[in-house]
Amino acid sequence: MSVSLPDALLNKVRTGSRFLLTSHANPDGDAIGSELGLARVLADLGKEALIWNRDPVPGLYRPMPGSAAIHVGEEPPAGFPTAFEAVVVLECPSLDRTGLEGALARHPNLLNIDHHLGNDGYGEVAWVDPEAPAVGEMVFRLARGLGVAPDVDTATCLLLALVTDTGGFRFANATPAAFRAGAALVEAGARPEEVSRWLYESNPPAMVRLLGEMLATLQLHAHGRIASVLLTRAMFERAGAAPGDSEGLIDVPRSIAGVEAAALLRERGEQRFKVSLRSRGAVDVQAVASRHGGGGHKNAAGCELTGPAEAIREQVVAELGQALEEGRG
Ligand code: 5GP
Repeated sequence: MSVSLPDALLNKVRTGSRFLLTSHANPDGDAIGSELGLARVLADLGKEALIWNRDPVPGLYRPMPGSAAIHVGEEPPAGFPTAFEAVVVLECPSLDRTGLEGALARHPNLLNIDHHLGNDGYGEVAWVDPEAPAVGEMVFRLARGLGVAPDVDTATCLLLALVTDTGGFRFANATPAAFRAGAALVEAGARPEEVSRWLYESNPPAMVRLLGEMLATLQLHAHGRIASVLLTRAMFERAGAAPGDSEGLIDVPRSIAGVEAAALLRERGEQRFKVSLRSRGAVDVQAVASRHGGGGHKNAAGCELTGPAEAIREQVVAELGQALEEGRG
């Protein structure tokens, strides 16, 4: 059962006039699409909305309407916190996922909209619906609750959120509700061909070069049921790639026939790695990530680990092997 839109959230939105919107560090399509879509819904109601993210918009999403106006970095936007009556935090299971928690925690009116299972319930109002295929779908429900019919650009932003978080309507979260929301967004004027062009046909050359670097590190384990890849800072440099250019690359090892779980290690600093995990079906990678202070969803999760790359790879592969066994049980 999906969790319905709380009246308290509707009231907060109806009564406020200036909103700050934010999402997680290293924003993905659901983060950016939900933020841009909600900002447009609020503007439609005659309210002001500013988006503040710690990290820049990945190149993939820069053509989206409104993305150039996003305030980026650790420095708060002018007037924060008093200039904003409420802060809407999208797609963050805990406030620290924003990377801006030091500043945001000073704001007395945080509104938490998320679909992660492990959301800790922070904020004045928390609307957490783990059944929602994407936060973009929740924003669409919020728009309807507020009586706003999304215009073409709003619907396109929300469709992009939905398409990215369901892997193009291919993952297990591509539920009937996801297809219904997709259909309604297209009815509202969303342009699927534009979303596809942004997502699948706008790869920067550096990203494709980075893919080449990554594929050279591919290893298969557990009789081909686990795949692992590595991206070092040197590889980013050789490819001329920016941090956002690795978005989506983990889908490649995951696409290999017989692979049930995949890991991508991304070097963040001296012996510091961001580990992205993906799986199919019953294999729970969220359990693996949360053991290391990370989180996510059953089939897509992440965490940070420290140590030499090869030791981390070995450890993660061993834990994925265990998750594979448990998934069978
Ligand atoms: P990705 O691998 O694309 O960075 O993240 C996949 C999923 O895991 C997303 O839902 C993301 O929010 C979550 N995730 C990634 N890294 C972390 C982390 O360090 N901590 C937590 N709590 N979740 C993470």
